[in-house]
Amino acid sequence: MKITDLKTHVLTTPLDVPFAFSMGWVHRRSAVLVELITDDGVVGWGECLCHGLQPPQIAAAIIEHALKPIVVGQDPFDVEVLWERMYNLTRPFGQKGAVPNAISGVDIAIWDCLGRALDKPVHKLLGGAHRTSVQPYATGFYRRKDAIYPAEAVDEARRHLASGFDAMKLKVGFGVEEDIDYIHTVREAIGRGPKLMVDANHAYNVGAARRLLMAIEPDDIYWFEEPISPEDIDGYRELKSLTRIWLAAGENEFTKVGFREWVSRRAVDMLQPDLCSAGGFTECRKIAALAQAWHMPITPHVWGSGIGLAASLQFLATLAPAPLALKPVEPMLEYDQSAHPFRQDLIFGAITMQGGRVAIPTGPGLGVDVNRDVIERYRTQ
Ligand code: CA
Repeated sequence: MKITDLKTHVLTTPLDVPFAFSMGWVHRRSAVLVELITDDGVVGWGECLCHGLQPPQIAAAIIEHALKPIVVGQDPFDVEVLWERMYNLTRPFGQKGAVPNAISGVDIAIWDCLGRALDKPVHKLLGGAHRTSVQPYATGFYRRKDAIYPAEAVDEARRHLASGFDAMKLKVGFGVEEDIDYIHTVREAIGRGPKLMVDANHAYNVGAARRLLMAIEPDDIYWFEEPISPEDIDGYRELKSLTRIWLAAGENEFTKVGFREWVSRRAVDMLQPDLCSAGGFTECRKIAALAQAWHMPITPHVWGSGIGLAASLQFLATLAPAPLALKPVEPMLEYDQSAHPFRQDLIFGAITMQGGRVAIPTGPGLGVDVNRDVIERYRTQ
């Protein structure tokens, strides 16, 4: 079997209502999709994570100019060899950020192709599923221009509860005093039952984050995500020693080498690599092995279109609880509820929440089919 072509599809569309998080305003949703074609006629799909402020053309250019020449003509079953070649040949201008982000999409497409060729879901190729479904938590709570906070957030929290969520994550990082009141108001509104997490998207320094952490301890926060900059691993260690709230981070880290420091220095309680950015299946299973050796749980970061969502569910299926037990601490699915015009249409609405759970797709490869009409509708050059 040979890879005969690698195509990138850059999809982008403006949002009807732009939304803000602590780093800025999001005006568009975009996706970089990778389509891998083989001489057997088997096609594989992958996705590179596109953050709210990330131009999708960067990953597409890296794939087109740097990665495509490495994988075209090769056997997709040599997926480990191809990953190491892609990393090694881009190391002088890669290692973190856009290049591993691009490699991730190619790697996911290769694994999807292998699954389709063998008529097995990717989680079977990776050694099987620890679970057939996962508990999702609602990611949302982005700010809109004309809305009033925290009243708007209380309404949104009640909507998530009504649609079946029992866990949700607030966007914070808008000023310590404002955050304290905001978090407390939402916790009071939803009661003590649901899990509540907060995410500052690294808006604070250690001093500001410490004040916030101390103030929200009574609000029973499940984890505090990216309180400070991802470059400040010592700062994470300092904060972690001061609080019983779990610290979580990882969406801005890449490859096993990048995660080595986070894991071996026990910088967080919950690791959050993004499958579509940290290196795809090939690398994230190694990050998972690294985390397992330090007994550190993983709940992946997920913020893509339906292809990234399906791939992340395949990865989630394979994560061993840390530790395995009768009632272990289970990984959750980050289930983005913010505006995204083509997230579900792209996969024919195949992934849904039922009874408060999201099922792991069991079809071949990623387990979803791709709607080419949607690609044509949102494609940009
Ligand atoms: Ca986050």
